[in-house]
Amino acid sequence: MSKTERTLTPSLTKKLWLVFILIIVLMGASYIFITGYFANKYNQATTQKLNAKVANHLIEEKFQNASPFLEDGSINKELFGDLMHDMMAVNRGIEVYLLGNDGEIQYSVVLSPSENEAAEKVSLTPIQSFIADEGENYILGDDPRNPGEQRIFSAAPFDINGKKGFIYIILAGEEFQMISQNMLAQYFVKLGIGATLLTMFFAALLGILSIWFLTKNLRLMTKTVRKFQEGDLTARIENPEKSDIEVFAKSFNEMADTITGNIDKMQSVDTLRRELIANVSHDLRTPLAIMKGYIETLQIKKDTLTEAEKQEYLQITNDNVDKLSGQINQLFEYSKLEAEQVTPVKEPFSITELSHDLIAKFKVIADKKEITLELNNPEENCMVYADVSLVERALQNLIENALKYTAPKGKVTMSLNKKNKNIEICIADTGTGIPLSEQPYIFDRYKQVNKNSKKQGYGLGLAIVKKIMDLHETTITVLSKPKEGSSFIFNLPAY
Ligand code: ADP
Repeated sequence: MSKTERTLTPSLTKKLWLVFILIIVLMGASYIFITGYFANKYNQATTQKLNAKVANHLIEEKFQNASPFLEDGSINKELFGDLMHDMMAVNRGIEVYLLGNDGEIQYSVVLSPSENEAAEKVSLTPIQSFIADEGENYILGDDPRNPGEQRIFSAAPFDINGKKGFIYIILAGEEFQMISQNMLAQYFVKLGIGATLLTMFFAALLGILSIWFLTKNLRLMTKTVRKFQEGDLTARIENPEKSDIEVFAKSFNEMADTITGNIDKMQSVDTLRRELIANVSHDLRTPLAIMKGYIETLQIKKDTLTEAEKQEYLQITNDNVDKLSGQINQLFEYSKLEAEQVTPVKEPFSITELSHDLIAKFKVIADKKEITLELNNPEENCMVYADVSLVERALQNLIENALKYTAPKGKVTMSLNKKNKNIEICIADTGTGIPLSEQPYIFDRYKQVNKNSKKQGYGLGLAIVKKIMDLHETTITVLSKPKEGSSFIFNLPAY
């Protein structure tokens, strides 16, 4: 078992876990951040609304009896000193500013002095909108001690002895900010730890369950693949269409089928090859033994044999050489076809002409055997699209067989018929016929129906015909009845 396969499921589970934890952490962090952000805003809005009238109260309370300006127009520092005392007692977080009519800072009361350089002016726009809607809305104004930053505030206009301006109160001053940030940080830590732990616990529980469910199918598949790998060729993934990874499950099953199919094919090829070797050696040995016998006789009895006898023996030897070379050629031809070394060169040609030529060629043999050999439907010129030499080879084999298995006075007929887009070619004889039980096997290699028949050839003739049909993507059918005869029929595309 290879290492990659062994770790197939665990590594996937690991990745799922990693993604899961990452999601939890990200979700936790964004949850805390979002809650913190909105809690802070909510808090500020509430504080501002609650303290919206603080500036008005200050003007009403403090400036009723005493003016913020002295007679010479300078600031009444005593009044503001008094104000500072009040602030110290009530709210250390606020900062009070006396603004001129253009927003310039004329005086400020701040409890904790800052290192930052205070601004000289603040923007009047937020102050004016605050006054206009009477502090109903949440508005941020400039923080004089941290220019560029914005704070919640309360503001009110004043007009004292012709001096106009604003009282501008920063409600969440620096001290407030410091305390609030501190609190927020503590809250974040507590909330963060609590929420993360709780989420982690439930997520882990859910995670274990869902990962177990999600990978259940995968585990089953891995088990099947392993079983197959260990040699159980029948192992298949059950109900692949219900699997989470349907393509994988189906592909595996198909691959397993192909592999087992190939193994079966290889085994049967091997059996047939062994059969062939046995048949070939037997069939080659017979003519060789005959030849050897006659040659030896010619050598030993060369002085006593008459000239006529010598000629006869030489003729027999010659016939056997022909037979042997014929058999070897057939074998060679078949192995080339089987090894798929032959590619058909298709072209249009006249099957009528070819049939005429073949009939003429076999006429001599047919006449010798007193068999009538004829072509049916010769008037029409039928054109087909096929490999002419391969078709010729197939027809030769079929006519040879027909003549071989037909007794004298019999008849062999070749007919051509147009059927739709095809030309149907039929070679019929009135010969011995083939038993029904044998018919399915005659196109198999080396199958000889009657092993003891003297007429039997190599058992390759029809196998070659079948291979040629395969190359033309067509099939050949046999209709045969013992003692009545056989017909071999196939179609070729008409041109
Ligand atoms: P063989 O060389 O033995 O003829 P073939 O492959 O040509 O081999 O044929 C296979 C078998 O099919 C033959 O042995 C024979 O029994 C049977 N066969 C083929 N053609 C005919 C036919 N026209 N009539 C009767 N039997 C036939």
